[in-house]
Amino acid sequence: MFVNDCLNVNKKGHLTIGGCDTVELAKKYGTPLYVLDENVIRNTCKAYVDSFKRHYDGKGLPLYASKALSCKALCEIAKEEKMGLDVVSGGELYTAISAGFPVEKIHFHGNNKTYDELCFAVDSNIGKIVVDNLNELETLDSICAKKNRVQKISMRIKPGVDAHTHSFIKTGQIDSKFGFALETGEAIDAVKEAIELKNVELTELHCHIGSQIFDIEPFVTAAEVMMDFIGTIKDETGYIVTELNLGGGFGIKYTDKDNPTAYDNYMKAVSNAVHAKAEEHGLPVPFVYIEPGRSIVGEAGITLYTVGAVKTIPRVRTYVSIDGGMCDNIRYALYQSEYTVVTANKADLEPDFVVTIAGKCCESGDLIQENTKIVEPVPGDTLAVLSTGAYNYSMSSNYNRIPKPPIVLVNNGSDKLIVRRESYEDLIKNDLDL
Ligand SMILES: *Cc1c(COP(=O)(O)O)cnc(C)c1O
Repeated sequence: MFVNDCLNVNKKGHLTIGGCDTVELAKKYGTPLYVLDENVIRNTCKAYVDSFKRHYDGKGLPLYASKALSCKALCEIAKEEKMGLDVVSGGELYTAISAGFPVEKIHFHGNNKTYDELCFAVDSNIGKIVVDNLNELETLDSICAKKNRVQKISMRIKPGVDAHTHSFIKTGQIDSKFGFALETGEAIDAVKEAIELKNVELTELHCHIGSQIFDIEPFVTAAEVMMDFIGTIKDETGYIVTELNLGGGFGIKYTDKDNPTAYDNYMKAVSNAVHAKAEEHGLPVPFVYIEPGRSIVGEAGITLYTVGAVKTIPRVRTYVSIDGGMCDNIRYALYQSEYTVVTANKADLEPDFVVTIAGKCCESGDLIQENTKIVEPVPGDTLAVLSTGAYNYSMSSNYNRIPKPPIVLVNNGSDKLIVRRESYEDLIKNDLDL
C-alpha cells in the first residue's frame, strides 16, 4: 500500500513501520523523529553481499557509503553484515573507528581531503585512500614517506558517462569537481605518476557516475570504460590494476512513480561486462567493489512530525506547518526531491486533500513537498514522510538553532534509540562567553 514493504496500517488506522505504531513512537520519543527499520537495512546489505557470491564468486565487496547516514549503530550493522565502508571525511572515519569498524575495509573518498585528514587515515591503517587529484597524490606520497609507510590507493576516474539524474548528483562527466578525466589524458598521466611513486601502491581504480539512477545501461558502460582503461594501462606500462570500484548510485523508491530495478539485475549485467572485458584485454578479473549508500538506508527510514498550523490561502494553497523542516530534510529545498507524505494517524483513509508541507525555519523555500495529496490534517496529527533514511539526518543542520532529531531503530515490533535528540545544552556546548 505504501511505497515500501516495511510500512503497513494497523487496526487503529495508524501507519506502522517494522511492526511499530508510528503514532506511539511519536508519543514515546517526541517529534521530529527519524525511524529506521533494521530488517530492511540488513536485508539490503545481505542482498548485495549475496550478489557478489553469485556474480563474482565472492571476489568483491559492497562498501556502505556512510555519507548517506553515518552514526555508530549504522557502522556496527554494516560491520555485522560483512560490508566494507566508504567514508568521505575525518568525521565519518572517526565514527567508523569509534564503532570498531575493521579499518582495512574502509575506503576514504573526497575531492579535497585535508592534510590532517590524510594523516589521520594513514595513521589509522585505513584500507584504501581514493586519490582525487595530483595535489593529493603528491601530498599523500610525502606524508607516507615521512611516516616510512606505503599506503594502498585507488584513483578516482571520470569515465565520461552521462547518468540521467539531477545535475547536482551527477558526477561521471568531464565537467565535475571529482576525479581525473579520461578524455584529456589526465587520467593516464596521473596513473603513470602514481605507479612511479614509492610510498603509495596503486591497486584499484574507482568511478562513481551519480546517484538515484534507475537505468542499468550507464553502469554497464562505466564498467566497460573502466575495464578498457585498465587494459590501456597494461598496454602502455605493463602495470596491472587488480581491483575495480564501480561506486554507488542505485535508485530507490520515493513515490509510486519510482520503479527501481532489482539490485541483482545491475550486478548481473555489470558482472557480464567486467568478465567479457577482462577476457578481451587478457586481464585477470578484478576484485570488484560497489558503494551503495542511498539504497542501503533510504527506503528503511521515515521521518515523523507533528502538525502545527494549517493555513489555507483562498484560491492559492494550503500550507501545513510541521515541527521540523529543512534543518532535518533539506532535499526538497536542494533538489526538489519528491516524497510521499502520509497522515500517520489516519493512514487508513483516502488521501484526497492537496497541501504544501512547510517547515518551521525562517526561509520561504523551507518546504518538504508542494501540492501533495494527504488525508486532511488538523493540528496535533502525526505526519510521516517516507523514504527519508538516506541524506536526511546526514545533511541535517542546526539552522535557527533547532536541535537535531533522534534516530530510533525498529525491528519486529520493538524500538531502540540509536541517536539521542540534541538538547539546548548541546547547542551551546562549544559557545564561549565574551
Ligand atoms: C555518494 C557516493 C556514493 C553513494 O551513492 P548512493 O547514490 O547513495 O548509492 C558512493 N560512492 C561515492 C564516491 C559517492 O560520492
